[in-house]
Amino acid sequence: MATDRIPREFIQTLLNRTDIVDLIDGRVPLRKKSSNNYFACCPFHQEKSPSFSVSQNKQFYHCFGCGAHGNAIDFLIQYDRLSFPEAIEALAKEAGLAIPQKSQTAKTSSHEDLYALLEKIAKFYQNALRQSDPAIQYLKKRGLSGSIAKQFGMGYAAPGWDRILNAFMKEKAKLSTTGMLIKKDDGGFYDRFRDRIMFPIKNRRGHIIGFGGRILNQGEPKYLNSPETPIFQKGHELYGLYETLQTERELKRIIIVEGYMDVIALFQHGITHAVATLGTATTAHHLTCLFRHTTEIIFCFDGDNAGRSAAERALHVTLPIMRDDVQVRFMFLPENEDPDSFIRKEGKKAFEERIDTAATLSQFFFQTIGTEADLSHIDGRARFVKLAKAHLDKLPEGIFQQMMFDELMKKARVDIKKPASEKIRAKPMKRRTPSNIRLAIMLLIQNPRLALQLDAPLAHADIPGFAFLLQLLTVIKEHHIETTGALIEQWRDQKEEKLIAKLAQIEHMIPETGIQNEFLGAITRLKSQSIKVTIDKLLAKAAIHGLSVEEKQYLNDLIQGQK
Ligand SMILES: [Zn+2]
Repeated sequence: MATDRIPREFIQTLLNRTDIVDLIDGRVPLRKKSSNNYFACCPFHQEKSPSFSVSQNKQFYHCFGCGAHGNAIDFLIQYDRLSFPEAIEALAKEAGLAIPQKSQTAKTSSHEDLYALLEKIAKFYQNALRQSDPAIQYLKKRGLSGSIAKQFGMGYAAPGWDRILNAFMKEKAKLSTTGMLIKKDDGGFYDRFRDRIMFPIKNRRGHIIGFGGRILNQGEPKYLNSPETPIFQKGHELYGLYETLQTERELKRIIIVEGYMDVIALFQHGITHAVATLGTATTAHHLTCLFRHTTEIIFCFDGDNAGRSAAERALHVTLPIMRDDVQVRFMFLPENEDPDSFIRKEGKKAFEERIDTAATLSQFFFQTIGTEADLSHIDGRARFVKLAKAHLDKLPEGIFQQMMFDELMKKARVDIKKPASEKIRAKPMKRRTPSNIRLAIMLLIQNPRLALQLDAPLAHADIPGFAFLLQLLTVIKEHHIETTGALIEQWRDQKEEKLIAKLAQIEHMIPETGIQNEFLGAITRLKSQSIKVTIDKLLAKAAIHGLSVEEKQYLNDLIQGQK
């Protein structure tokens, strides 16, 4: 992933150069609460009184209402809806820094050239469209307005083998890299797209990364896409997402359809939140990307058998990434209709009614499994449970998984063993004063500079959580980390990230001036706790196996030291 190509030290430099208060204030006006804390109404959920708080010391934000939290990078990911590399790029730009690449230096700049070339080609196709009466007639026949064609940058690749080749002769190598040319056996080249209506495919930043083409007259294939290239990965890109994000700021839902004509027809009829995959099935990557922009995804399928099996594939991709806060629904059109033909015939209202009555993931899931097992007898029910359970185990743990298991039990009228971990999680958390280890870790996460207050490195202690404390101290010193926001960055996408974020947000009520003493006190208590643990272990060993001379001496020293 691109993430790995950006050196960690650079990300830390970037976070040091950025002030999260300025960054957020530029987008969500902040008010001052105390010297280091700011607040506002949360940009991530609807509220009347402010519960969104930003700490300058910690370089961390957190909402008491919806739980949104993170550092400057997370804010750009959540608020500007950028991917991780895009957020880094944006911060670097603001800080006036160039992103160093771990390997393959200067790869990005050559991509700029490719984007620019495809931009020129798109213009070339648009001109050709204006000059082609058959192409214009075709779009009119499909009910598309000039302004929609313009919004999507539609064009026309006229018939002929070398129009692009001749027009962009000087950039032949790049034409080939971007898949605009096909190589002949004799070493020559010819145009990939001929006599087709052309649809530029844009990435989320609006760069053209490839084209789709629909044959104007008869011919095969009906639809043709650019091949995979360094700038176009089909499993990552969605047609129409850029235009959708440009049109609607708050996206309640996004509809996934099959082709570009579907996306454009829906836009033409006022449904401006549709995207299409590009000749591939929907991937988990697609869905994760969409869930950054919305909390509801509607899959729209044709009403035939092919649509049905496409829906089942989509269901299987969806299960492992279902979070509790998102919704996925499945909508089917009447036989022999696609979104394009349906909305032209029936209009926006009829289409929206179908959206409103689309099956929920749970309904569609049990319906699908139900067709494979006969629930009228016990064997069928057992098969039903077995099939369903295999899928439901793939769901992330959480409320949704629990509800699906409950529903399965109801449907099958049997008792099923839930995943073992569920039982452990169900135990209520005891509320009590934090242990020394928890206190030390929490204060350190909230004030990484405390690491410098320890005069000697800590020895390992046999206390749960102690290894993590040592790890934190090492990372802080090694990377010169000064803020919570910079610290949590070191654990991005790792399992400890959640714990760190949770401890970062605790309001501990210890006054600013007392924090250092509190931390050092906890460390001292941890040291003696560690000695006690060791003493107890040695005493236990003495009682059963006896101790060696060295162990006896060591035990003696420890006990002496305790006094
Ligand atoms: Zn919130």
